[in-house]
Amino acid sequence: MPGAGRTFFVADLHLTDERPAATGRFFRFLEEDVAGADALYILGDLFEAWTGDDHDEAVAHDTARRLKALADAGTPVYFMHGNRDFMLAARYAGRSGMTLLADPARVDLYGVPTLLMHGDTLCTDDTAYQRFRRRVRHPATLALLRMLPQALRRRLARQARAGSQAAKAEKPAEIMDVNDAEVVRVLRERQVGRLIHGHTHRPARHVHAVDGRECERWVVPDWYARWGYVVCDAGGCSLRLENL
Ligand code: MN
Repeated sequence: MPGAGRTFFVADLHLTDERPAATGRFFRFLEEDVAGADALYILGDLFEAWTGDDHDEAVAHDTARRLKALADAGTPVYFMHGNRDFMLAARYAGRSGMTLLADPARVDLYGVPTLLMHGDTLCTDDTAYQRFRRRVRHPATLALLRMLPQALRRRLARQARAGSQAAKAEKPAEIMDVNDAEVVRVLRERQVGRLIHGHTHRPARHVHAVDGRECERWVVPDWYARWGYVVCDAGGCSLRLENL
């Protein structure tokens, strides 16, 4: 089995029926790389948009089937919400054989305490986004959104995406990246030597000094023009990046 003894991390696949190449690549990745692995962690933004577990794109049904098969074959699949798919709930997770994870989640990775995040909460320089996030992720807002008819939820999601695109065009690039001081604060608070996250679409390995200790931060790639993942085993982690 190709994945034996390894744990995979992906994020920001942004799957949609409109980009079948990424979907096809993801399904091949599950078969060719992940099969037999110790675990697969999806760190948010698996889908381009998710307005509720009644989401009806073909890619939603196909992905559920593939992930369920992987989980049934013995590879646990974990899912953490991203800013695109925070409405994904227990019904779809159950159908996909995925276990929902809180953000952040602290896991023991072959003996190394590791913190997993989507990554958007680290971008503290983008105060307008953080304000929007707090509002829309509030339990009362989520409960209200879940009661709306699907067509209305879809329209609101489209408006939110258009608004975010317009705002992004006006923000300097460094505002859209993580804030280093926030990274150090989180590493210190959670007492971990390693952080793995996505969201920024800036795949890399960074080293941060925390109270004289070197901590590593792995950024998982997006699946737009490229694809890839972070993979860890008992010897450490590495980043794989390929063209789509
Ligand atoms: Mn994101």
